[in-house]
Amino acid sequence: MPKNPFRPFEPNRDFTSLLGDYSGNAVNGLGEDAIRRPSMVWWTPDMDTAEFGDAQKWFYQQEQPDEEMLELRTARHKMVAEPLPEVAAKKAERTAVEWTQALVRFVQAGDCEMTGVTRLRPEWVFDHEHTELPTVIMLGVQHIYEELEHVPDTRGGKDVTRQYLRAAAVSKKVAAWIREQGWQADAVTGPMTGKILMIPPALECGFGELGKHGSLINPEFGSAFRLGAVLTDAPFATTPKREFGIDDFCSRCRVCENACPPFAISPEKQTVRGVEKWYVDFDRCIPFFAETSGCAICIAVCPWSRPGVGLNLVEKLARRAKRKAEDSS
Ligand code: SF4
Ligand code: SF4
Repeated sequence: MPKNPFRPFEPNRDFTSLLGDYSGNAVNGLGEDAIRRPSMVWWTPDMDTAEFGDAQKWFYQQEQPDEEMLELRTARHKMVAEPLPEVAAKKAERTAVEWTQALVRFVQAGDCEMTGVTRLRPEWVFDHEHTELPTVIMLGVQHIYEELEHVPDTRGGKDVTRQYLRAAAVSKKVAAWIREQGWQADAVTGPMTGKILMIPPALECGFGELGKHGSLINPEFGSAFRLGAVLTDAPFATTPKREFGIDDFCSRCRVCENACPPFAISPEKQTVRGVEKWYVDFDRCIPFFAETSGCAICIAVCPWSRPGVGLNLVEKLARRAKRKAEDSS
């Protein structure tokens, strides 16, 4: 196993003193058996009032000055603030399947690489938010792997901001398109906390499976993508959840565990707000994440993220599952 260049890691006391007794694991509901709505744990849009706001400000102060990064971030802020058009008076009519098929235009135009649809569950809505809109459209934008692989260097971080800008732009574009056809739509953009969690609906709409590193793994893009979403009352058909054997693959792989400088990735699943799943220890991760202005090592090193690897792995896993089924019949 190659030596981890970032170990041993000692959290910066300036940062940990800003966090004080604050525990993101407690806020996230680690060890809680009951399902409940999530609370905001990081990425507050208002750093002046949040409990961890000063720690989040510290995160931004660690960044190396970089003109392109500033431009990307300014463009993202501008995009997020962009108003959506009024909802048109006349409702366009399509079948549910036609609505969902119409999303392909955004992939064809290069606005995003993935679309999916699922029904919103109450436990995905942050406990300080509210929405009456019943459906979530998920949108995935792919990283440029040759840039992402440089994390935690600013070069990799810039691609994270670049893709969040694309995710915000496509969320706004899809929401505007729906509103112009007489249906309600709200854009949800990251990385700042929006109305809903994005990973659970992305899992439900078929984007992939949850990896041991706590991020989604898609067979084609690995974990090298970011998410945007749109909440709507337009009658879209849902897209099915999909499984590829990735969860089982993760139980045998240790690449991200070994690469994570502060040992935040656990080899075992844990219970979080009533669901047993892979979970990253927030309190271990966040000091390294903050010092490196976003880390992302775990998603860059995941073998699924390397271009061209995932689809071959899926085929291999399918062949293995078939052999296993034949052997046991
Ligand atoms: S590096 Fe390995 S264990 Fe970690 S998420 Fe990727 S496949 Fe799963
Ligand atoms: S973001 Fe970095 S510190 Fe956090 S879990 Fe991933 S590798 Fe570890």
